[in-house]
Amino acid sequence: MRLSSSLARVAGATLDLIAPPHCLACSTEDVVRLGLGAACLRLVRPVPPDSCPVCAAVLGYGAPTSACIACARLLPRFRASVAGAAYAGLGGELVRRAKYGRDALLGVPLAGLLADAVSAWEPGTRADEVVCVPSTQRRRRERGFNLAELLADPIARRLGVPFRPHRLARVGEPAPQAALTRAERRRAATGTVRMQRRSRLARFLARRDAGVCGSRILLVDDVLTTGATANACARALLEAGARDVMVAVATRA
Ligand SMILES: [Zn+2]
Ligand SMILES: [Zn+2]
Repeated sequence: MRLSSSLARVAGATLDLIAPPHCLACSTEDVVRLGLGAACLRLVRPVPPDSCPVCAAVLGYGAPTSACIACARLLPRFRASVAGAAYAGLGGELVRRAKYGRDALLGVPLAGLLADAVSAWEPGTRADEVVCVPSTQRRRRERGFNLAELLADPIARRLGVPFRPHRLARVGEPAPQAALTRAERRRAATGTVRMQRRSRLARFLARRDAGVCGSRILLVDDVLTTGATANACARALLEAGARDVMVAVATRA
């Protein structure tokens, strides 16, 4: 399904209201919850409770009290992360089908999984506003929507805080990252995200919006892999005066 950008925004605003008759993943079974049937729900792999509190990486050595080795070494600019599901299993498949198959409705189960995780996550409940990881112009044109933006709207609604979809903007096209190390990815991502510049008219129209100064921001994305992009977003927000950045992703790779 291809949706125009504005229609996709409406879809994002109503993802949590859509009640499909059949499972959105397989379209053969009845829906049990989150737009999925019982068989597909079993294919969603949860993120275990012993994941890293900073980056949500799965560690597998009991409940951690401190950051994982990668976080201890690279010191991410965001303070904490939560994920709706593991990227392995149906979670990642839904992300891939939504993005590359341009199927915005697959955001329904992803948003549901993420909203459940965020509601049960103490740092998230203290957020003042929700921001999404921005998409490049080219990707938005190709897909017709930004999946992160579709997911962020229902999360903000669940938390009862404003969603600011245009806080951040991409600068140019990010370099291909596949062959880079974690540190190289982080360097490559730095500077690819900036705060959205607002015209005087936009500032006037949004005069009740005082900006991010002193705010605790919940940053939403569809997947967290190395955390390089989330880190670049957190850096821009903190430099603009945000007090704290927390990350909520539909899936953790
Ligand atoms: Zn199904
Ligand atoms: Zn970590």
